[in-house]
Amino acid sequence: MKLIEGKPIAEAVYAECRTELAQLQAAGHLPGLAVVLVGDDPASKAYVASKDDKCRELGFHSLKIERPAGISRGELLETIAELNADPAIHGILVQMPLPGHLDEDEVILAIDPAKDVDGLHPINLGKIAMEDPTGFAPCTPSGCQRMLVESGIETAGRHVVVVGRSLLVGKSLALLMMGKGPGANATVTVAHSRTRDLPSITRQADILVAAIGRPRFIGADHVRDGAVVIDVGINRIDDPSARRGYRLVGDVDFDAVAPKCDAITPVPGGVGVMTIAMLMRNTIRACQMATGA
Ligand code: NDP
Repeated sequence: MKLIEGKPIAEAVYAECRTELAQLQAAGHLPGLAVVLVGDDPASKAYVASKDDKCRELGFHSLKIERPAGISRGELLETIAELNADPAIHGILVQMPLPGHLDEDEVILAIDPAKDVDGLHPINLGKIAMEDPTGFAPCTPSGCQRMLVESGIETAGRHVVVVGRSLLVGKSLALLMMGKGPGANATVTVAHSRTRDLPSITRQADILVAAIGRPRFIGADHVRDGAVVIDVGINRIDDPSARRGYRLVGDVDFDAVAPKCDAITPVPGGVGVMTIAMLMRNTIRACQMATGA
């Protein structure tokens, strides 16, 4: 069984980013990413801090914009309009979820699609469906695809079963995997909470992707011998022995499933590491496209 770790693959993505950053800087350009945080949810704060840290470490221009949970719809849309108009900013990410009084779809629609490095604007999702290379793919699905490519796992003609149909992960990954590029050309099945007899479907997978949000939901019965398993799930479970009182587990019961697999991603240290790497990659591309460099 091969363990597909995220870190070395993310490092390869960062190495590409550094090379392309040097080329952009030589042409007088600096990629800029703005991350907007509304409220003070601890998990969102931690995500935003790690994105900001990575930008600074790579040498990007980084703007962290913190707004109170009570911000009005108009004020938030105005903030986004300012970022859309700011030539030093090439990528805009609004950290989700937003407080209940704000409409997340409206906020995503307000972001200039050319700066939507999170890949959630309908224009970018449409471009992904159309296989238009100027589109930005959402970071977690493109991170999964990159892991398969870098690990030398053939996807062409193979049966990929994705469990989960969110736009952020499952549905977008299905679109990428059924495309025609590298790490694609797969036959894709998407399962969800209304799927009947899930184990009989997932056992058909050459490559099984779990994006469910339920700790250790995928067990040995769901996986055929020799499958490749990509675990997108990040779930907190109580663990009194851990320093913070909890630990992170995936949607896959790793100990039960790993012995059956050809290859599997761990949690933590698997897909999660790739998401920020692909965000940085998208920000570089946004800068390249905006400047023509
Ligand atoms: P959502 O809650 O938006 O979607 C979960 C999906 O799982 C839904 O489509 C749902 O089906 C399906 N599902 C739920 N229960 C079952 C079940 N019993 N059987 C089959 N399908 C089921 O979650 P996300 O897609 O946003 O995230 C999924 C997981 O990935 C979470 O653990 C999240 O933390 C993690 N994640 C990790 C990231 C990373 O960087 N690694 C980034 C984003 C998410 P239905 O549509 O019918 O309700």
